[in-house]
Amino acid sequence: MAEEATGQEAVGQRGAGQATARPEATGENAFDFSGGELCLDFANTLSGSREHPKERLKSYQDLLAWGSQAGILNDEDVRYLGRIAAEHPRRAAAALAGATALREALFRIVASVIAGTPPKDEDLATLNAALPRALEHLRVAPRAKGCEWEWTGEEGALDRMLWPIARSAADLLVSSEVQRVRRCANREECDWLFIDATRNRSRRWCDMRSCGNRTKARRHYARKKAAR
Ligand SMILES: [Zn+2]
Repeated sequence: MAEEATGQEAVGQRGAGQATARPEATGENAFDFSGGELCLDFANTLSGSREHPKERLKSYQDLLAWGSQAGILNDEDVRYLGRIAAEHPRRAAAALAGATALREALFRIVASVIAGTPPKDEDLATLNAALPRALEHLRVAPRAKGCEWEWTGEEGALDRMLWPIARSAADLLVSSEVQRVRRCANREECDWLFIDATRNRSRRWCDMRSCGNRTKARRHYARKKAAR
């Protein structure tokens, strides 16, 4: 029981609006969290452009790794869900497919908003189907001082890392903050989504060090080539 309570708390921390320390992950399995909102970080689990995608969520284990690095799942959750996934590979595959379907719907919805066009009904339907499933598990829980949001119940649900994502997406889409979401200007190789928090709304790249420099170097090379 105590273990379950710990799991609930970990799920409750992120996605309920509080910032939590993210476990530092390095190496090939390290995901990037530069989006500024949980749902955008999740959309960015596909590297490369949508036309030339590099899938980062290749297995259910990858989804667990992302949930852990996002601060949604603690180690106990990861072990427990990993065990269930190993025993029920078909259910795990379905959970992964559901996760990437939600992710792609989110990407298209946000891309539509950025472009100033209405999102497609089918994409909103995907989000709106995930939303009640998520919110069903949201509770107000007591803390030492006051109360806070907590995700609870169905500890063995293989899609539980999607609950805070669905809520994050819904919150973002109905807020004025959505007007500050940008697509990385390195469209050919990246196309990540992020909140532009700069005062003059001038951020163009998900990361200046990677995409910004790469794009500038490519333009510089193209100019040199043209000048020859
Ligand atoms: Zn980028």
